[in-house]
Amino acid sequence: MVFLWAFALGHANWTCRAGGDISEAPPTYTVTGATLAQVALGFNQIDGNRVSAGQTVWQDTMVYEISYDVKVDASGSFTVTATPRKVKITVQFVVTLPIWNPNDLNNADAAARNEWFRFLAALEAHENGHVNILKNANYKAYTTRISNVAASRSSAKSLDDAKQDATVAINSQAAQIRKQMEMDLQTQSDAYDSKTNHGATQGAILNTSIR
Ligand SMILES: [Zn+2]
Repeated sequence: MVFLWAFALGHANWTCRAGGDISEAPPTYTVTGATLAQVALGFNQIDGNRVSAGQTVWQDTMVYEISYDVKVDASGSFTVTATPRKVKITVQFVVTLPIWNPNDLNNADAAARNEWFRFLAALEAHENGHVNILKNANYKAYTTRISNVAASRSSAKSLDDAKQDATVAINSQAAQIRKQMEMDLQTQSDAYDSKTNHGATQGAILNTSIR
């Protein structure tokens, strides 16, 4: 009996957004073949390196404004304190699932068709588990952390220099928190794949011995 594993790719970037929208696109790809064994050969077209039937990828973007507080001391030196505000994190994800070419599907035996639809439902349920991790993440915690960042930089020469240095510092700290968020999401996704054996415990394995 040949088992095919439903892998989800969890290595893409994520996006989150504090209380914001999550956009979703449902792409599919078509597999062909008269039998399930032939159909399964098409799974690797969404990932050339391994046999994958479904896939969930995500991407995050982060935007914020920076407010600046400027002070000039008695010697004429500028100190700029920069703080992020209106921090917004957006996560977009895409779930890809296979479609069995309708002609082949119609010509297949009932047992094979039933196995296909059983498998597809289980695969979708597995991918939805990845999606739920993205949907349920506490993005507010990360945007709050970023909002609480502050950086002060001074320049005896120019306000612009101080402002630029403070901006660089803010962007660096915000990027670190964003990276931490991405790692946290990845860790959760990996744990989910470990727990479900990439969907195997949820039935997301196509039994290609059925004809
Ligand atoms: Zn998975």
